[in-house]
Amino acid sequence: MKKEIAVIGLGRFGGSIVMELHDMDVDVLVIDSDENRVNEYQEFSTEGIIGDSTDEAMLKKIGIDNYDNVIVAIGDNIQASILTTLILKDLGVKKVTSKAQTAHHGRVLEKIGADSVIHPERDMGRRVAHRLVSSSVVEYLEVSHNHSIIEFSANQKFENKQISDLTLREKFGISIIAIKRDHDIIVSPDANTTILDGDILILIGTDEQLGLFEDKMDRLK
Ligand code: ATP
Repeated sequence: MKKEIAVIGLGRFGGSIVMELHDMDVDVLVIDSDENRVNEYQEFSTEGIIGDSTDEAMLKKIGIDNYDNVIVAIGDNIQASILTTLILKDLGVKKVTSKAQTAHHGRVLEKIGADSVIHPERDMGRRVAHRLVSSSVVEYLEVSHNHSIIEFSANQKFENKQISDLTLREKFGISIIAIKRDHDIIVSPDANTTILDGDILILIGTDEQLGLFEDKMDRLK
């Protein structure tokens, strides 16, 4: 069965979600109070509604509770974002994902029942900061408030060594969960896997452990 998804708010963030879902062949309903925005995304959506998402009667009329997933991508108008999230949960939408503009906004969204709260600007800022601080970190992903995953470009110190020789777990408490090699990915590599030139190591650990590892590796270069 095809997933039914609705996106409310067609700013840059909401708009890019709609385009991505369209590429993935997912049916999307779009809602925005601005007619121009709805028209702009017409070719990427299955249905477009021009309307105020804080209008409960309108959401009820279009049967919003039939959607598996509703994304509230309204940012600047915090009041509208909060009220829309509240109404969607009251109407029985199973999964509401709301975009937070600030940490406080995010906390309110969690309290009123958003199933998932995303902080795109904060997360992007953190990812860029990690890449700036360590030239070997090519990607960064936060998995909990104190655990992250990094993609680390293996330097010469790693080349032709086996994973067991690196003793990353013993020295730093971090684990290699996968290795990207050319266009392949080695998932859960064995301890005797040899690291090659150009390998990208995907590492998981606490932020503190990963920070110590990044510092040490930068000093070794
Ligand atoms: P982004 O950071 O994603 O680019 P933005 O700054 O362009 O967002 P926002 O103010 O976050 O714009 O709003 C995103 C969209 O949400 C806009 O197109 C706006 O018309 C729409 N929007 C705002 N409030 C409502 C509402 N109550 N009902 C429906 N749409 C709304």
